Amino acid sequence: MRRCTVAAPGPHHYETPALERAAWLRRDGARLAALARDPRSLWLWLRELQVPVVGDGAGLRLAWQPPPSRLPELPLFLGLLRERAVFAAAGNVVPSGARWLELREAALQLAPEEAGVAALARALLHWHATHRHCGRCGRPTQVEEGGHVRRCPGCGLEIHPRTDPAVIVLVHRGDRCLLARSPRFPPGMYSTLAGFVEPGESPEAAVVREVWEEVGVRLAAPVYVAAQPWPFPQSLMLGFVARARTVRLRVDPLELEDACWFTREELRDPARRPVRLPRRDSIARYLIESWLAGRIPPSAGGSKSRPRRKAALRAK
Ligand SMILES: [Zn+2]
Repeated sequence: MRRCTVAAPGPHHYETPALERAAWLRRDGARLAALARDPRSLWLWLRELQVPVVGDGAGLRLAWQPPPSRLPELPLFLGLLRERAVFAAAGNVVPSGARWLELREAALQLAPEEAGVAALARALLHWHATHRHCGRCGRPTQVEEGGHVRRCPGCGLEIHPRTDPAVIVLVHRGDRCLLARSPRFPPGMYSTLAGFVEPGESPEAAVVREVWEEVGVRLAAPVYVAAQPWPFPQSLMLGFVARARTVRLRVDPLELEDACWFTREELRDPARRPVRLPRRDSIARYLIESWLAGRIPPSAGGSKSRPRRKAALRAK
């Protein structure tokens, strides 16, 4: 995958860089059982996938709990946070003063580290809730490896947490970028184009296909920028930038309400912008802001292949 290096860090919401996943502990049942009861361990209880938080407008924190006196049916070992074991489970246990929020409601007020851990807990709990039975023989599956594997006792099928790769792309041409509006968006919001990668397809091919299907625009080779876990419920967004080879738009009415080319001048000033941009926790917003700031596309992007090929030929 060609990669475009950007000066600013990638989007960090819903990532877990501070968490040591400690996969070697997942198979050590005795050690995990001891950690689950260790008073230093941290427990996070999600109620219907909502996260428990404390705090106010100045910022939120996750409402961690000490180990429960009775372990839940499905304790999930998330990893180690500064050498403290972190567990999550579905349940109603919160300290007084805490409240439940949808992760996306809370995310922008949580520290990125906590938003990331909550995202992992949410994604794993959603996966368990939707994979209770074997897809091959239909029997109830059993949980293994601290909640990171389910196995069928009947046919032996091993099932791993599901992550669906999706591509998202900032399409540009000259001083304009292409943003579109889905009927599912909040009023006035326009965003970059996105879609799922299909079986047997590379992310780059998915970018080219999605943009052609949704707006009828042909692209030059897409360049990878950054990725973001998107646990709503289980996607991994692969962010690209790509130059449009054509500009005429043919909007697919089944997917989109509208699509438009916008200049930097139109989008730069938040007070005068004709549209709302996507939220700051999204890679879509990161791609748009990076383009507005001139960080993408890379200044030499797309023009290096010929000189490189010549150099390679000379080397022979
Ligand atoms: Zn089975």
